[in-house]
Amino acid sequence: MKVPFLDLIPAQSEIATEIDAALARVVHSGQYVLGEEVDLFERGFADFCGARNCVGVGSGLDALMLALRAMEIGSGDEVIVPSNTFIATWLAVSHVGATPVPVEPNQRTYNIDPARIEAAITARTRAIVPVHLYGQPADLDSILEIARRHGLWVLEDAAQAHGARYKGQRIGAHGDATAWSFYPGKNLGAFGDAGAITTDSAEIDWKVRLLRNYGSRAKYENEVKGFNSRLDPIQAAVLRAKLIHLNTWNARRQHIARRYLRDLARTDVQLPTEPDWAEAVWHLFVIGTPHRSRLQADLQRNGIATLIHYPVPPHLQPAYRDLGFLRGSFPIAEFIHDTVLSLPIGPHMTDAQVEFVVDEVRRFSA
Ligand SMILES: *Cc1c(COP(=O)(O)O)cnc(C)c1O
Repeated sequence: MKVPFLDLIPAQSEIATEIDAALARVVHSGQYVLGEEVDLFERGFADFCGARNCVGVGSGLDALMLALRAMEIGSGDEVIVPSNTFIATWLAVSHVGATPVPVEPNQRTYNIDPARIEAAITARTRAIVPVHLYGQPADLDSILEIARRHGLWVLEDAAQAHGARYKGQRIGAHGDATAWSFYPGKNLGAFGDAGAITTDSAEIDWKVRLLRNYGSRAKYENEVKGFNSRLDPIQAAVLRAKLIHLNTWNARRQHIARRYLRDLARTDVQLPTEPDWAEAVWHLFVIGTPHRSRLQADLQRNGIATLIHYPVPPHLQPAYRDLGFLRGSFPIAEFIHDTVLSLPIGPHMTDAQVEFVVDEVRRFSA
């Protein structure tokens, strides 16, 4: 049996008629930038998240970057980011001219540890960017309380958390703004790059609308130095078709995660911890093991693909040499990066495939 890490074709096949209709609608509309498809997706996704506003942009990185710009964060400012994240969280901060200030995660949840945030706050700190990593909500109330006390913005990086809930409420409207990625492999994925910002703030909403479109509300009137980062109508149409199925697909991921949690409980791998206030959507199912390379090679030999999220933490990437961090600077993030392995999970994985993965991991760690 072969178990791919994530196969995007079955989702496409399941809703092929809806996708074909969506694509045809855009082709025949003659509207190839912004327009009704984008408006309708923005409305639908805002409603899904329980947020007042949604602005579609070109990618998740742009969503983070434009939200930081809308908050007028820039040169000389510091922004608190997790030490354990995909590098885009840090890059957004760097690209607006600010400095990312890493804070270590909780080793069980992999998310930023609120107890460590205050020690990283200085007079220059302007914002905290919690990441809902692997599809699991960060401890938002604690983070929002610290932010309120210090007068900081909270920008959530929800690129892996479409549909996840914190204390029963969907991610997307807890902080001042939430950045989304619709990269094809995300829980809600387009047929290319795409992203969005959700926010209850009318001001952030209109500022991002200006910034994504040359700083312009009316053609050839440029109020600010904007960018070209608009959600493509073809992607918006695909996302509208897929959004209808997101709850079902997330439920299937949750079912698979429960199987893994139950059936791998008596092995020596460290299983992800889901705090009782979190409802994860399992973008990734990440285990910890000191025997990572042997386990990965063993699974590979048996036809099971796994990945590492992520092999090198941002502070040890050549891109961030300028910040002067060394191995040992963020030991928890380094430990996580050295020991985690992501098992296959996805809405179209079959029960037989899940069982096969369980059997092979159990055989290895018996
Ligand atoms: C995917 C991802 C991003 C970036 O999204 P893109 O659409 O690829 O630009 C940002 N943050 C996290 C945590 C991600 O997983």
